[in-house]
Amino acid sequence: MRSITTFDLQYAHRFYGFKGEAQYLHGHTGVLTIEVEDTVNEGVNMVFPCNEIQKTAWAVLKNFDHALILREDDPLLPAVLDVYEKQGIRNGHPQNTMKGAAFKTELCTAYPDCRLVVTKETMTVEGMIKIVYDLLKDKLNIAKITFTSGVNAGSMEFETRKQIDRCPLCGIALDENGRCPKCGYKK
Ligand SMILES: [Zn+2]
Ligand SMILES: [Zn+2]
Repeated sequence: MRSITTFDLQYAHRFYGFKGEAQYLHGHTGVLTIEVEDTVNEGVNMVFPCNEIQKTAWAVLKNFDHALILREDDPLLPAVLDVYEKQGIRNGHPQNTMKGAAFKTELCTAYPDCRLVVTKETMTVEGMIKIVYDLLKDKLNIAKITFTSGVNAGSMEFETRKQIDRCPLCGIALDENGRCPKCGYKK
């Protein structure tokens, strides 16, 4: 069975070098759907609480919200950073509070202080699915990711590992010591 959670992500990007309108900077509200698969946890009669999927995923995904997403070789990148620098907002601003933890993976690097994500590949819906899976695969039993942005939509199914021990009282993942971080239940 699956527990399914959906997020809205508002972002700006462009397809650098693409022969079409998308080579110009523009924005979207993207809709990301994450499907988590496992057995039904008998204690709570859920696969996984959706608010906990939200919490786990949003900790990293909020770096993509109200962010600029550019490919690492895009000449807009140094140009934008130069403007942010001159404006004094490159390294953060008191009103930039909705920040996730900075991260760096094979596919992308997040700079929460200036709401920028730099990607290795063009940030298409397919590219975003790869990025999200890579960021969350060790935390959630992801069976499918769907991403819709404007008229573009993509989805990919993944093999689930089915080895996440869950609390029979809260349904959330137990830590490495078999303890529930929420209620203290010990396996
Ligand atoms: Zn676009
Ligand atoms: Zn618990």
